[in-house]
Amino acid sequence: MNKYDLVVIGAGPAGYAAAMRAVDFKKKTLLIERNRLGGAGITNGALSSKTWWELSRETASFRKSLNRYNIHAPQVAYADVQGEVCRDVNERKAMLEEHIHQLQRSRNDQLLDLKYGQAKLRTPNRIEILAGEQK
Ligand SMILES: Cc1cc2nc3c(=O)[nH]c(=O)nc-3n(C[C@H](O)[C@H](O)[C@H](O)COP(=O)(O)OP(=O)(O)OC[C@H]3O[C@@H](n4cnc5c(N)ncnc54)[C@H](O)[C@@H]3O)c2cc1C
Repeated sequence: MNKYDLVVIGAGPAGYAAAMRAVDFKKKTLLIERNRLGGAGITNGALSSKTWWELSRETASFRKSLNRYNIHAPQVAYADVQGEVCRDVNERKAMLEEHIHQLQRSRNDQLLDLKYGQAKLRTPNRIEILAGEQK
């Protein structure tokens, strides 16, 4: 059984920031995520919804400009746009992962650990991690 000063459940924006701050304070920290690093800040939330919104706005504006000159706007395929959004989300997730790995590599104190799985609080001081699927 591994021991930590602090266990953070959930690597969304709040959990990620909490874990980083704990490492700043030299606490041996475990960050547990059952699904995707970044939580709703990245996947199916802030980043993806705003990327969709921005792309829609730009497409509408582009169409409006072309219409003024009687030029037909090219068709936009939903799958292409969806692919673009997925790429953005994956890129941001990879940046977070790389940040964690860099932190782990650059420090000899091994203060930060990241594990994937569903965390269950068994007692106030014991947490079990059920097998999870990293996405
Ligand atoms: C559609 C949408 C659009 C948004 N747009 C904006 C925006 O424009 N600007 C803005 O500021 N905010 C926006 N938000 C809100 C923002 O995404 C949230 O405020 C933020 O993600 C909350 O962060 P969090 O870390 O508290 O929770 P979450 O992001 O929900 O992260 C919680 C994490 O904990 C994990 N977890 C939970 N339980 C367990 C467990 N038992 N074991 C292991 N892991 C666990 C989850 O898998 C998840 O990754 C938006 C949200 C949505 C849904």
